[in-house]
Amino acid sequence: MKTLCAAWLLAASVLPVLAAPLPTLIIDGQNNHDWKATTPVMKKDLEATGLFSVEVATAPGGNGPELAAFQPDFAKYKVVVMNYNGAMWSDATCQAFEAYVAGGGGLVVVHAADNSFPKWPAYNAMIAVGGWSGRDDTSGAYLRWKDGKQVLDTQPGTVGHHGAQHPFVLETRSPKHPIMAGLPENWLHPADELYDFMRGPAKNATILATAFADTKFGGSGEHEALLIAIDFGKGRVFHTMIGHGTEAMQCVGFITTLQRGTEWAATGKVTQPVPADFPKPDAVSLR
Ligand code: ZN
Repeated sequence: MKTLCAAWLLAASVLPVLAAPLPTLIIDGQNNHDWKATTPVMKKDLEATGLFSVEVATAPGGNGPELAAFQPDFAKYKVVVMNYNGAMWSDATCQAFEAYVAGGGGLVVVHAADNSFPKWPAYNAMIAVGGWSGRDDTSGAYLRWKDGKQVLDTQPGTVGHHGAQHPFVLETRSPKHPIMAGLPENWLHPADELYDFMRGPAKNATILATAFADTKFGGSGEHEALLIAIDFGKGRVFHTMIGHGTEAMQCVGFITTLQRGTEWAATGKVTQPVPADFPKPDAVSLR
């Protein structure tokens, strides 16, 4: 008996501690993008890390009583991934979501999810900047990188825009942030929409990476914030503006920052190594 206990203790001390996967919820169901195709891609990417157990909550279409009854149990999850761009949720669901993030829940906002909910102040605070859907000069400032630092640009103008899809370089601006640590300073992303003229309260927001929205593709001519970390109460938000569709989501840079950003939003740390096939400054990498 004594020997058995000793053997068990020895085994327990040398075996790695396998933490339970982080309960994760992807929300979709309404989006002017192909959520039926992109949600399974992101679910697979997250589960491939072994860190997340992913469920999907699909909101009903329209803006009727079915949507009014949509109320995921946010408190069950460590992190929520928003792949939703659609009609406003019920007051009860909005309040529960605010309480969840403010109380320390993680949130990841993907591409057009930052078009959602223009009139919901807390959501705009969570995403820092958003676009389209009736946003205007009163929505806040442009969040950009100028002269080596993050700036809020309050000049009036367009809110939410992108030029023609094209490949572009992501430039790391916060190399010590857990999501970015170890990633190359610059990496090439395949053809995608480069969101520019995005506007919002942009409080407690840190630009992680920008891309230059070249006027030759119809862009703003500014270094636009495309990966952003935001604090909302005790909660952490990772906002990625890339990933228009499944082709752009094949980028190992999209996949890696989604995986790392989701872990950071859930736990405040990133334990994942940088993959060997991460894109280079002049070469995309697809999976
Ligand atoms: Zn798009």
